[in-house]
Amino acid sequence: MNFQYWDPEIEKLPRNELESLQLNKLKTEIEISLRAPFYKERLSKNGIKSADDIRTLEDLNRIPFTTKNDLRDGFPYGFLAIARDEVIRLHSSSGTTGTPTVIYFSRQDIKNWAGFMARCIYGAGCTKTDVFQNMITYGLFTGGLGFHQGGEEVGMLVIPAGAGNTTRQFKMMQDYGTTVLHATPSFLLHLETKMKEAGVERSSLSIKKAFGGAEPYSEDTRKRIETLLKVDVYNSYGLSEMNGPGVAFECQCKDGLHIWEDGYIAEIVNPDTLEPVKDGETGELILTILCREATPILRYRTRDLTSFYTEPCACGRTHRKLHRITGRSDDMLIINGVNVFPSQIEEVIMAMKEVGNNYLIVVEKDGALDKLTVKTEVSAEIFMDDSRPLNALREKIKDTLQASISINPKVELHESGSLPISEGKAVRVKDNRPRDV
Ligand code: AMP
Ligand code: ZN
Repeated sequence: MNFQYWDPEIEKLPRNELESLQLNKLKTEIEISLRAPFYKERLSKNGIKSADDIRTLEDLNRIPFTTKNDLRDGFPYGFLAIARDEVIRLHSSSGTTGTPTVIYFSRQDIKNWAGFMARCIYGAGCTKTDVFQNMITYGLFTGGLGFHQGGEEVGMLVIPAGAGNTTRQFKMMQDYGTTVLHATPSFLLHLETKMKEAGVERSSLSIKKAFGGAEPYSEDTRKRIETLLKVDVYNSYGLSEMNGPGVAFECQCKDGLHIWEDGYIAEIVNPDTLEPVKDGETGELILTILCREATPILRYRTRDLTSFYTEPCACGRTHRKLHRITGRSDDMLIINGVNVFPSQIEEVIMAMKEVGNNYLIVVEKDGALDKLTVKTEVSAEIFMDDSRPLNALREKIKDTLQASISINPKVELHESGSLPISEGKAVRVKDNRPRDV
């Protein structure tokens, strides 16, 4: 295979040199962290008062893990390590209830991120001759702008299409001769269904490759998309706390995701004991960012479950590979690429006095896409035989939930006491999507 490298020197750097580069970058990141109020306190409590206190990569173990709650507690400026007027952008978590998590970027941070994204896109075989249709949500979500910048850095013609509206997407593919797509894997599958419905001929499209990310999917799903859409699909992994996409990506071998170790230190731990797992075993991914000056984050608990490959890759890159993410060590749901915690839904519905005590969250497949149904009991005062107040309540719950979690759910109302009550710990979530990861 003819592999192409965006930055061959770094991508194929011998392991010992890569590790000393990591150590140097970690020291810089520690220096940066000591300027952020949160880490100033946390690091000094753990005896780290300057970068000189970090002598080897193992010294990272002296730093406690950082959690999503820490980021929330630090809202809005607790993690900011540079002057406010050096910040040129922010991105924030998808949920809108409770305190958001926010990440700030300096000009250099944006440049670094675009560089990592370019490395991913070029490494997957794209070049400046490609036309790239970015069919993912723009805005506070990092997937849109992250891929956009990376595509421009490579020199592709980037179409900021955004998510949804398949008719418009097909039209753009035909008008501009799109060769590369980016979307959630469920949207890629949905696209194929819609293509048949709309009578769009595959031969009228020039698409060759697609990047699929933002949600877990199996090897079988990849193969299905590849067969149905006749494109090469590459897995893309990232999270907003670590910039967004561009953390780990598949090379042309399409067998595991290279994590860019000059930008991140990756550890895998047992989520219960928080001790490192044996090489090759599955556990929770912990990430330390080495490429950001505005918002340093050290030893972040991603909650994503994965394992390292133990063999080097045929492409010659020395950066280790991760197996595709198989799930989470918390209860976060990913619905069509949007992150939702059941607690966000509970917060909204339980704040309404018309809603009874029991509720159930059901997630299932509706064609290729995910469908969320929220079933709630209504309080005994509302009579189930008068449909007018019920319809109004259903709409109110739907609208409030949509505003809060950015997903339009189906809402079902049930008579008080009619939803099943489980013995022991309440089962509030039924995720009926096939689990073939
Ligand atoms: P966000 O911060 O909104 O970008 O969401 C990040 C989360 O999405 C990650 O922590 C993962 O749980 C999930 N995610 C992103 N990309 C992938 C992927 N390729 N495979 C599985 N899960 C993913
Ligand atoms: Zn490779």
